[in-house]
Amino acid sequence: MISVTELEAKEKRTDDDLEQRVAQPVIQLSHVHKVYYMGDVEVHALRGITLTVKKGEFVAIMGASGSGKSTTMNIIGCLDRPTKGTYILDGQDVSELSRDERADIRNQKIGFVFQGFNLLARTSALENVELPMLYSNNNTADRHQRALKALSEVGLSGREQSHPNQLSGGQQQRVAIARALVNQPALILADEPTGNLDSRTSVEVMEIFQRLNRDDHITLILVTHEHDIAEYASRVIVFKDGKIKNDYLVTNRRDAAEELKLLPPIIEDDDDE
Ligand code: ADP
Ligand code: MG
Repeated sequence: MISVTELEAKEKRTDDDLEQRVAQPVIQLSHVHKVYYMGDVEVHALRGITLTVKKGEFVAIMGASGSGKSTTMNIIGCLDRPTKGTYILDGQDVSELSRDERADIRNQKIGFVFQGFNLLARTSALENVELPMLYSNNNTADRHQRALKALSEVGLSGREQSHPNQLSGGQQQRVAIARALVNQPALILADEPTGNLDSRTSVEVMEIFQRLNRDDHITLILVTHEHDIAEYASRVIVFKDGKIKNDYLVTNRRDAAEELKLLPPIIEDDDDE
């Protein structure tokens, strides 16, 4: 028989394990610089960024235009490399990887959501969501299954066959989120995801991000210039002139699900023609 103290010890170990997993860093940027060369002109876009983001964090990146937000997102998303400094993603040093190696990492570990949705126009919602799996998963039935599940997670069951021009902006962004989710990434990066959406639809999109973050512990990094959108995150990082100017935890975090309950319901334009 197992004693109470043993049980307690066991439970504590499980708690410690959990805490360690939750506290694991997903992103470690150390003294990252980025210099763009345009002919004779050097643009020093990042001037020593040191930043750790742990598993399960929801980070909003803010800062004036030209402060280095997109450059940082491109490096974090393995679309570009630092000129100097190191980047460790999910325990792996990716600072020096080749273009092809970075493409593999992106496909395995990162989901992207953009301001302009970036969906294929002549392609159904379902096929758009299946796209990231074409490189990694050859099993058609499994691909379908996972795409259907991702679409249902963003509230789009029943719209699988709709093309982007048959969907509202909010619905298109939800397809894009489903596409970002479908490879079960360690990290979702969103650059101004609510930039083209009205305020109610923005809250709906933030509700999805908060739910994915809370329930599935997906790490999220979101660029926004709107303070009220940043307040849905748990942490805000402010860039200025290629450096981090401020980094703080959000104290009165907004809860998108609660806010949606208070908003009057809308009838979505479901015109299928
Ligand atoms: P933000 O996203 O905060 O507006 P960026 O990261 O896009 O800022 O840009 C930071 C600086 O780097 C700016 O001065 C911008 O003009 C410059 N920059 C960004 N991308 C390039 C590029 N591909 N070539 C040259 N300069 C660039
Ligand atoms: Mg930008």
